[in-house]
Order: sequence, then structure tokens, then C-alpha cells
Amino acid sequence: MKFEMTKYEGGWIELIVGCMFSGKSEEMIRRVKRAIIANQKVIVFKPKIDKRYDKDKVVSHNGIKIEAFVVDNPAEIYELSQKYDVIAIDEAQFFDNELIEVVEQLANENKRIIIAGLDQDFRGEPFSIMPHLMAIADSVDKLHAICVVCGAVATKSQRLIENQPAPYDSPTIVVGAIETYQPRCRKCFQKPVKVKT
Ligand code: ZN
Repeated sequence: MKFEMTKYEGGWIELIVGCMFSGKSEEMIRRVKRAIIANQKVIVFKPKIDKRYDKDKVVSHNGIKIEAFVVDNPAEIYELSQKYDVIAIDEAQFFDNELIEVVEQLANENKRIIIAGLDQDFRGEPFSIMPHLMAIADSVDKLHAICVVCGAVATKSQRLIENQPAPYDSPTIVVGAIETYQPRCRKCFQKPVKVKT
């Protein structure tokens, strides 16, 4: 990575963004480990909505695990962060607007905030609060995956339901369906279309 944080004065907000399978969690864990080695007090959070893996761990795809607090809302992050120097937040796209205020406040209290999240949803559109967080951040790193179709650099997350591209208005959770995601490049990404009902 071109950017290596060693010392933060006056607080610091850094973002790790990208599509699915771009290694965001791994990169966040790498930074967290470095801070732990430097004897900084580190706490890791993730939203309750993410139930794909272990309930209380940030799990990266290469199997590295770091303990994380699963929280319902950003106010909990603020309360639990008081005694810490470095605050890491994974899957930030699932938090509501309140996270923006909480992150700014924590940075103003001289803390370093490391945020990982999806920059685009399965439609290829900006994901919830992520554009705002990217704007207020002191540093942004955009990671890439490899397109599963052609092998080019991938920046999009293709959502598939029963192996077909999910329609634009497909619900967040499709009960009973086999849902998968694939990293794809701009050329291979099949933009979800609106289906009239
Ligand atoms: Zn491709």
C-alpha cells in the first residue's frame, strides 16, 4: 500500500473501499495488527446485519480472524470506543447516517478511525453512507478484485440469484434462493435492470 499510517495528530479517518472480494477486510486487519504491535489500544466493530460468518469476529477470506464487537447502531460504537486509540469498523455500508457524526466526533477526539466497506451496491450505484464517508475521510484506498469472467481488474459486485443477474429492485434478502456475488469488471458487469411489476 502506498499509504502507511504511523502517527496521527488531531484524529484521522481512513477508508478502505472496493467491490466484494477485493480484500478490504484483510487490509483492515493488516492495519489493525500493526497498531496492536505498536501497543496502541484497538477496538473493532461490525454491524449486526452481517451474519455471513462468525457472529463476533471479522473474518477475512484468507482465514485471519480478529475479535470484533457486533453492534446495532453507531451510538454503541461511540460509547465503547472511549478508552481506545484506534477504532476499526468493517462493513460500514450497513450502518445508517449516524455513523458519519460518530466518526467525525471520534476523530475530533484525537482517535484514528479505519473504515472498510463496499463503495458500490450490486446495481453499481454508490452504497448508502459510503460516498459521504469517502468525502470526509483524510485518506481513501480503493481496492480491486479480479473479474471472474475475463480476468481484468474488477470494481463491481454482480449479485446473482439462482445464477441469474439480480433485477434492480430485488429485495435485500431473497428467502430460499441461492444468492451469490461475483467480482466483475465494467465490461462484464451486467447492470441490473428495473422490472415493472
Ligand atoms: Zn471482465
